[in-house]
This record gives sequence, structure tokens and C-alpha cells, in this order.
Amino acid sequence: MARTRETGRPYEYVTYAPAGYTCGKCRKPIPTDTPCRRGDIERTSSSPVAVYWHQECATKAGGAK
Ligand SMILES: [Zn+2]
Repeated sequence: MARTRETGRPYEYVTYAPAGYTCGKCRKPIPTDTPCRRGDIERTSSSPVAVYWHQECATKAGGAK
């Protein structure tokens, strides 16, 4: 899978969320036909978990720094 590095942050890129995912910030469902931001959250006890945000939410959550 090709990754884009638009944010300059590793493990975070623009993609489409699988059906049924909700935004990691606002908790609202993410439409499958809308580009969103994906990240991998590392867990100490298990493998990384994929998290998706609306692009607007990802920006508000700290991407604007
Ligand atoms: Zn959101």
C-alpha cells in the first residue's frame, strides 16, 4: 500500500476508512467515500491499532502545529 507523507508525520496518511469506523476525535461515523486521516496507535500489550479521523478533526487535533 502506498503511503503519502503529507503531514510529515510517520504512520499517518490520507486514505479511506473501511465501513463502520468512527472518527477518533468526534466519534461520528466516517463516510467510506470521503478521504480521512489514518494513524496507528501503538499499544504496549498488543499490535498497533488503526485509528481514523475526519480530515478536519485531524487538523484540529494537532496537525496544525
Ligand atoms: Zn471527526
